[in-house]
Amino acid sequence: MIVAGNWKMNKNATETAELIRAVAADMGNTDTRVMVAPPSINLAVAADAAKNTNIKVAAQNMHFAESGAFTGEISASMLLHLGIDHVILGHSERRSIFGETDELLAKKVDAALANNMTIIFCFGEELHDRKNDIHFEVVKNQLTEGLFHLDSKSWQNIILAYEPVWAIGTGETASPEQAQEMHAFIRKTLTDKYDAALAENISILYGGSVKPGNAKDIFSKPDVDGGLIGGAALKADDFLAIVRSA
Ligand code: PEP
Repeated sequence: MIVAGNWKMNKNATETAELIRAVAADMGNTDTRVMVAPPSINLAVAADAAKNTNIKVAAQNMHFAESGAFTGEISASMLLHLGIDHVILGHSERRSIFGETDELLAKKVDAALANNMTIIFCFGEELHDRKNDIHFEVVKNQLTEGLFHLDSKSWQNIILAYEPVWAIGTGETASPEQAQEMHAFIRKTLTDKYDAALAENISILYGGSVKPGNAKDIFSKPDVDGGLIGGAALKADDFLAIVRSA
């Protein structure tokens, strides 16, 4: 099980260190892999605060190039220099607000893997896709375009995060049954493309308005291996309650 907090554009440097320390202080011993992804400007502070804890720090995004004329961007090697080897790619806000395409994401995936980083790869349908009953097709397409050029070995460094866009930050969660149905579909799609062993070994997180009150029901589904948490990751108590549910 994995519980990862995507902090988006929240928390300054001081608050970042405080929140990580608060989570670490009360986390206790857990088998759940716990990650937090603060804004890039606070990654160094976060890496420092998370030292000697069981919390992994992840970046929310990165560029595919190593260096160069890419104003405002950060590279894999800059992250690795801070000891950060996990990165979220393909979040729906990157896709819809910043225009990141499947093609661009495939390049970022390749760059992250070339640097031996672990990727939390996000994907999921929009509300109109679900209403038009094309959500399975949309998800399969995102996986195909973003990840299916990879060989089986590369998948050791991939964590999937299914995040239906209509459930992100809206308070509306996919029901545990809807999450399970899609996660089972994702595993079947991976089995068809690769094999059953690969599909079984991949962690598939659910993201979209997971809260302390609904985490347990969602995580109890057999194909749900944890969650990517937005809003509820910003308060230590809520985030810890979700970690405990896992
Ligand atoms: C997210 O942004 O990845 C997310 C799941 O957000 P929230 O939990 O706030 O819906």
